[in-house]
Amino acid sequence: MESPRFVVVGGGPAAAAAARRIAEAGEPVALLTVEQVAPYDRTALSKDALLDPTAEVPGLWPPGATWRDDVFVRTRTPVAAIDPDAGTLTTDDGTMWAYERLVLATGAEPRRLAVTGAEGPGVHHLRDTADASALSGALTSGARLVVVGGGVIGLEVAAAAVHRGLDVEVVEAGPRVLGRGVPAPVALWLTALHTRHGVRVRTGVAPQEVVRAPDGSVTGVHLSDDTLLPADLVVVGIGVDPRTALAEDAGLAVDDGVVVDLAMRTSHPAVLAAGDGVRMVPPAGGRGVRLESFTAAGRQGEVAADTALGLEAAFTDAPWSWSDQYDATMQSAGVPPTEAEEVLVGGPEAPLVLSLEHGRLVGACGVSIGPGIARPVRAAGRAIEAGARVDLDALRAAGGDLPALARVLRDAAG
Ligand SMILES: Cc1cc2nc3c(=O)[nH]c(=O)nc-3n(C[C@H](O)[C@H](O)[C@H](O)COP(=O)(O)OP(=O)(O)OC[C@H]3O[C@@H](n4cnc5c(N)ncnc54)[C@H](O)[C@@H]3O)c2cc1C
Repeated sequence: MESPRFVVVGGGPAAAAAARRIAEAGEPVALLTVEQVAPYDRTALSKDALLDPTAEVPGLWPPGATWRDDVFVRTRTPVAAIDPDAGTLTTDDGTMWAYERLVLATGAEPRRLAVTGAEGPGVHHLRDTADASALSGALTSGARLVVVGGGVIGLEVAAAAVHRGLDVEVVEAGPRVLGRGVPAPVALWLTALHTRHGVRVRTGVAPQEVVRAPDGSVTGVHLSDDTLLPADLVVVGIGVDPRTALAEDAGLAVDDGVVVDLAMRTSHPAVLAAGDGVRMVPPAGGRGVRLESFTAAGRQGEVAADTALGLEAAFTDAPWSWSDQYDATMQSAGVPPTEAEEVLVGGPEAPLVLSLEHGRLVGACGVSIGPGIARPVRAAGRAIEAGARVDLDALRAAGGDLPALARVLRDAAG
């Protein structure tokens, strides 16, 4: 039996951050991942890795980092079961590991499209390097691509496919793209950008069938309004489901994500969890939130590690995330509740929507050509963490001047 004191299960940013933190504290730690390689930055898979098939996907395991030699990394090692009361886990080859503290960071997996023809060649999902190389290999100039789902991944794939010379149509079942978590002015700005690049965006329709030729190749997508869209390939980007099977089988509390508190403690004292696979419930209770963000996953991994090490820690950040499409960047901070009041500031070149609850800033989301929107959104993130009120008159007076907006928001953060 292998028995380091700390074991981390997973191969994404949450697992990498947790393992790094524990190693930096001088404790022995093992990281077990299904993947073929040590943790890498999967956010590149729908950006640089698709734009340029020769681009290397950046590792989260930087060469030369002093801690990296102190983490015992086992790739191609799926964990099959955990037994929290016994403090053991079993990998799929039957090896048993003992631990004092376990961090589960198994992430999430793409939802499948439940219609005829949706499984098989020519229909792609995008979560890991194998998915990315299969998709990249299929992006042939002149081919017709239907992207199912107008979320962040679908739109990033659409932008990369346009760059690679494909004819692209996006099909979104909701009334607009980015219907989950992105305010309408920002979503409409991005829709217009895609339209300018030649992408056709259809909303309010859903695929009924992926149509295939007798040889199995994709020939089209049949939609709920009876349209038949010709297609050579399909990318499905309709969201992700948390990977909770290990936790569920072990009897941990699970509710669309492994349930954790702000210190990343699960319902078992020896097991922490972090990343896309968790639902984080604040002390006040309620259903909590499941974040799907690279930086939030890394930060939750650090908090899980600190808690595992016996330190006081809590996730109190305003989660930040971004999306790059063509030469535009969208950035957001915070998790505003649906009932928050939305105020549009910025100008038509770079709309920024601030979300307020009882006058306090709880969310910010904006978009710009180039990185200009990053400064006000970062400043908004700090103001959210400070629980600040904002001076709407000063923000409106700043108009479309992004550095001026950033200054007002920085002042609000104090
Ligand atoms: C294509 C793409 C682009 C994205 N772009 C952005 C972006 O621009 N900005 C942003 O903020 N976020 C982005 N995201 C989301 C971001 O990547 C995720 O929020 C983040 O990766 C979540 O980290 P995680 O560590 O929780 O899970 P994951 O990164 O999903 O990692 C989970 C790991 O656990 C491994 N695993 C699962 N089960 C087991 C098991 N039983 N045993 C061992 N290992 C297991 C998996 O193989 C995987 O390596 C993007 C995601 C994708 C897929």
